[in-house]
Amino acid sequence: MNVDERFPVARPCLSELEEHYLLDALRSGWISSQGPYLRRVEEQLAERCGTATAVATSNGTVALHLVLAAAGIGPGDEVVVPALTYVATANAVAYCGARPVVVDVLPQTWCIDPDSVRAAIGPRTRAVIAVDVYGHPADYPALRELCDRHGLLLVADAAESFGATLHGRPTGSQADASTFSFFGNKVVTSGEGGCVTTSDAALADQMRLLRSQGMDPQRRYWFPVVGYNYRMTNLAAALLCAQLDRAEEIIARRDRVIAAYEHELADVPLLRPQPVATGVRRAPWMASFLVGAEGATSPRDELARILDRLGVETRPFFVPICELPAHFDPHAHCPVSSDLARRGINLPTYAGLSDTDMKAIVERIRAAVDLLESSGTPTA
Ligand SMILES: *Cc1c(COP(=O)(O)O)cnc(C)c1O
Repeated sequence: MNVDERFPVARPCLSELEEHYLLDALRSGWISSQGPYLRRVEEQLAERCGTATAVATSNGTVALHLVLAAAGIGPGDEVVVPALTYVATANAVAYCGARPVVVDVLPQTWCIDPDSVRAAIGPRTRAVIAVDVYGHPADYPALRELCDRHGLLLVADAAESFGATLHGRPTGSQADASTFSFFGNKVVTSGEGGCVTTSDAALADQMRLLRSQGMDPQRRYWFPVVGYNYRMTNLAAALLCAQLDRAEEIIARRDRVIAAYEHELADVPLLRPQPVATGVRRAPWMASFLVGAEGATSPRDELARILDRLGVETRPFFVPICELPAHFDPHAHCPVSSDLARRGINLPTYAGLSDTDMKAIVERIRAAVDLLESSGTPTA
């Protein structure tokens, strides 16, 4: 086995179209936070998601903060978040001075458990942020009902689920407001970037106000509120426009990569693929697998070390929010998230992986599993 060629976990898929749009933006002089590409991405994102509007932002973290700030969430408020997510979800709550209340996820979807959300709702609860973790949409119908009953804002952190659908409807349209990230490792990218999709006109107006330092749209240099500079640049928007034009191609190629892992590794009992609920078309963000059985000590880290030596980069799952020093909560009870976090591994997933690359990676994974099993590391 020749392991000279290394495979990273993620790599953007950039073509001449990205180059063309970027150069066009550059030459136009519209390099800052106004310009035709910005208008175009906002229109296209809203259209894709089936919402009235989209608000482009400088990244996915501030998109989350913008939603919560525009909804008036502040000190004394609580926002329910899942334990298994990227830290940005909880950080955005903390930026508002509010408290993230961390609840567990479901083993069937890895997404927030509506029953745990129900149990966490109290007099201070203002909002729920569902996260489409590893591209799988959360159970929005159940969350919608719950939020409506208790008068809560439902936010979707759809950073990882661009292109996913639930019962035929795209993520980005299933909550009061949904946020996306266009970081370099996401399904489509603008380098750094994000957006909020919503059909709530008042919320969108408030987000546009806060995105631009809180300046009165009718009166220059007049600031009724303290706002932020959370704008996307026209340069980033040009890059994103090209990615949106190519989104179907990029998604199809990433889907193919994940399907190849699932097919080629189906007979390896050590590796179990991400479950997909009925009615779900998952977004192909990462090929996510669980290493070993539930409850047992997982050889995940040892497998990752061997794969690294064989030139295959991997990523462990997120550490549950309530286990992080930044958001530590000794009272949070999230056994499912903790178990998934110990066993989960993400494999190289990007549109540029050819069939030959996939053969090579799968061969190395099989070799790594053999090495692990012959090394006496407990694997069951
Ligand atoms: C990537 C990501 C974000 C943050 O996006 P940035 O653009 O990096 O700020 C937020 N939430 C989740 C679940 C993510 O995966």
